[in-house]
Amino acid sequence: MRLPIAATMVPHEDSRDDDGLPALESVRARIARAARVAGRDPSEIELIAISKTQPADAILALAAQGQASFGENRVQEAQAKWPALRDAMPGLRLHHVGQLQSNKADDAVALFDAIHGVDRPSLVTALARAMERAGRRPDCFIQVNIGEEPQKGGCAIADVPSLLAEVRAAGLPLAGLMAVPPADTEAAPYFALLAKIARDHGLAGLSMGMSGDYETAVMLGATHVRVGTALFGARLG
Ligand SMILES: *Cc1c(COP(=O)(O)O)cnc(C)c1O
Repeated sequence: MRLPIAATMVPHEDSRDDDGLPALESVRARIARAARVAGRDPSEIELIAISKTQPADAILALAAQGQASFGENRVQEAQAKWPALRDAMPGLRLHHVGQLQSNKADDAVALFDAIHGVDRPSLVTALARAMERAGRRPDCFIQVNIGEEPQKGGCAIADVPSLLAEVRAAGLPLAGLMAVPPADTEAAPYFALLAKIARDHGLAGLSMGMSGDYETAVMLGATHVRVGTALFGARLG
């Protein structure tokens, strides 16, 4: 989805950075530094380790270093990996990121603690019903198509107010907004725009920033950063 990241941010195959630091330590230090530059408390920022395509042992290794939040983008893959991981390491938080089909709403609500891809009324309805049935209420982020890219998920910027009203009317636990800026371009203006939309609507949560741009996202107000390759190394799938 994103292009190769700046060399200084790429951990090697053994998930260490250029200074030989374990990748998790390095990412945490960079988040803390970016937060302090922006006058923020680093503890306000949740680092989500995006573990899609990663095997269970790589996830367990990161969890053993103290990483508590993980993210997956495919419900089926998560269903195959996560029940055993949850048994092995109780207390981990699991986020769903990216596109979610309405017919997977029940499975997603059963498995995930947060859902970052709420982007259309039909999904709001499906999630509300699934939460009712399951008696479980994962945090929801409205995904905004912040670069107005036709091929990308997320609701149009102009549709945020109406979707927000639907989410509130359906009683979903709304955590904030999420976006993936266009690839190949400076992400900062898109992060700033998402932050402004969230502010305009009184929303606290901002899920933005990936391996190549999470420090920028933190400086611009991210409360949740979604980092995959900078923690795990390159994806296989
Ligand atoms: C894969 C993915 C990420 C993580 O991407 P990296 O560049 O590996 O950090 C973040 N957010 C979403 C929605 C993703 O699909």
